[in-house]
Amino acid sequence: MHVYDYLIIGGGIIGLGLAKALKTRYPEASVVLIEKERSPGAHSSGRNSGVLHAGFYYTADSLKARFTREGNATMHAFCEENGLKINRCGKVVVAQNAGELEGLEELKRRGDANGVALEWMSEEALRARFPEAKTFQKALFSPSTSTVNPKEVVKALALHVKALGVEIRTQCAYEARLGKDAVLTSQGPLFFNTLINAAGLYADTIAQEFGAGKAYVIIPFKGIYLKDAHNHMGLSTNIYPVPNLANPFLGVHYTLTAEGAAKIGPTAIPALWRENYQGVENFSLHELGQIAWYEAKLFATNAFGFRALAVEEVRKYQKSYFLGLATALTHERDHNGFDAWSEPGIRAQLLNTDTLELVQDFIVEREGNTVHILNAVSPAFTCAFSFTEWVVEEYM
Ligand SMILES: Cc1cc2nc3c(=O)[nH]c(=O)nc-3n(C[C@H](O)[C@H](O)[C@H](O)COP(=O)(O)OP(=O)(O)OC[C@H]3O[C@@H](n4cnc5c(N)ncnc54)[C@H](O)[C@@H]3O)c2cc1C
Repeated sequence: MHVYDYLIIGGGIIGLGLAKALKTRYPEASVVLIEKERSPGAHSSGRNSGVLHAGFYYTADSLKARFTREGNATMHAFCEENGLKINRCGKVVVAQNAGELEGLEELKRRGDANGVALEWMSEEALRARFPEAKTFQKALFSPSTSTVNPKEVVKALALHVKALGVEIRTQCAYEARLGKDAVLTSQGPLFFNTLINAAGLYADTIAQEFGAGKAYVIIPFKGIYLKDAHNHMGLSTNIYPVPNLANPFLGVHYTLTAEGAAKIGPTAIPALWRENYQGVENFSLHELGQIAWYEAKLFATNAFGFRALAVEEVRKYQKSYFLGLATALTHERDHNGFDAWSEPGIRAQLLNTDTLELVQDFIVEREGNTVHILNAVSPAFTCAFSFTEWVVEEYM
């Protein structure tokens, strides 16, 4: 019977980041990572916008603020070392009217508090540098925001951790707890000294089997995108609106991918089951029942303005409405190239079941010899290295 020092559930950027951090700190430790899919990165980590965020959306006391600036730098370094594509196109946050200027000021204050470089741009300066972007009076420019190809990053990281001696078992799903130091997987039982749960959309249910994460449930929010593979509109930077800081979503925006394609999105449409990407794919009646119950409760109580959010988000399935939201951020340009929906992603967003609030920050809980990473939502891709190094330092 082999007992692993560390057993990680989940081959997304967080599970792989934890594996890297563990082998860096404890080179002699035996580490196994189990992933239920054929290859790592099949969910959020391979289906996101690929934006390396700068770190100015988050309040200074949050884990997100603490790890995004450094995570941005270490992810850039990892991509450089591994010859991966980086589009250093920066990002502008634009205002649509006078009412949004205070939101822009708040982002600048948060950026200053988090030590993130941001520059004000006048309307004229914006027009000269990024002619497609439109703002009211002024815009905020973030020079350290870049885009990468998330699938490429995950693939390189999986190779990197294998080279460090981590055993990656794919098509190996966690199925049940078998006691204090063993789990049942689809490939049989596995024994461990410490278990780390980085299972993304299933992190809450697995945590609960170990007595952690009791106050939470994941409410999946789907992000869909429209893509113009040839960037007919001449997008030259990422263009974001001023977000509603009361919820964790950033609003419909333009992203220039690492390959130079233009994308509009993502939405934040409440999904009906956890891997509800398309049609009835991965349908689960049990999940539908649980999620529908919470969504109905949110609708009835209108917690965090859920009614308006749900109605507004569902409207975005209508292409003309969706495009209309984006084009408010730009001068008149050819948007005919945005003719195809591209691969959607689903956020593993935690809801506090007592307060009915969407949890804003990352949550880490330890229960006995198990550690659970919950609410690893955006910008957890950007933060992966700095955040997981801290988890290993603090919790292992
Ligand atoms: C639409 C969208 C856009 C985003 N854009 C950005 C962005 O631009 N920048 C940014 O920084 N972040 C972004 N994010 C957030 C980012 O993608 C996530 O924070 C990050 O990928 C989370 O990584 P993870 O490893 O926790 O989860 P995941 O990538 O979901 O990995 C969890 C893994 O666990 C596996 N798993 C689940 N259950 C089991 C089981 N029972 N047994 C074995 N394995 C299991 C899954 O198959 C999966 O591979 C975005 C997210 C979405 C959805």
